Amino acid sequence: MDKQKLEHYRNLLETRRRTLLESVARSEEDGRAAQEVDSAQDVADRASNSYQKEFLFARSNNDRQFVRLVEHALSHIAEGTYGECEQCGSEINERRLEAVPWAQYCLACQERLDRGELEQRPQQD
Ligand SMILES: [Zn+2]
Repeated sequence: MDKQKLEHYRNLLETRRRTLLESVARSEEDGRAAQEVDSAQDVADRASNSYQKEFLFARSNNDRQFVRLVEHALSHIAEGTYGECEQCGSEINERRLEAVPWAQYCLACQERLDRGELEQRPQQD
């Protein structure tokens, strides 16, 4: 992949990482705020509040996993292996990368993964 394209994907990934980290920070803040009002509430309020906390927690967990994926892709850019399928080693289609710049697998491997025909490899980093 040429330098200009790599730079393009790096920008996409870094922008995404920034947005995600902001969202994680916001969820944590909301979670803390929810914690603080906890003690001043009656039982029903507390129940809905704890539901909200769980929701926020799940959201920040998802975001965190997503951040890992994005950082994983960024490390591949640094190593010069970006755009290669981690399963079969072939080049990932550029239209796919454009839509999903953190893609780890080519479409064929992703489809096999989704069907449960392949084992997802554990991430190394
Ligand atoms: Zn593949």
